[in-house]
Amino acid sequence: MSTQLIVKVHLDWTAPGHYDDEHSLPCRLGDGPTKMRDSQDRPCHLKCAEDEIARELYGRGQVLIADERVAPARPRGDR
Ligand SMILES: [Zn+2]
Repeated sequence: MSTQLIVKVHLDWTAPGHYDDEHSLPCRLGDGPTKMRDSQDRPCHLKCAEDEIARELYGRGQVLIADERVAPARPRGDR
């Protein structure tokens, strides 16, 4: 009997800090422009971030709990 490990990650990026309506920038993983931002305010597609964490979990073979939520949007010019 074989065992298959499936790692699926779903991030909640519904907070406004994960979306920059005004600037489309190259995804940090190099697959095109995006208006999405990761928890460190870097341009990143949601799916790219989910896949990256899934690969990391699979590679480590351990559970990692990542909190990707960001604080509520700050006023412009405060970054
Ligand atoms: Zn991407």
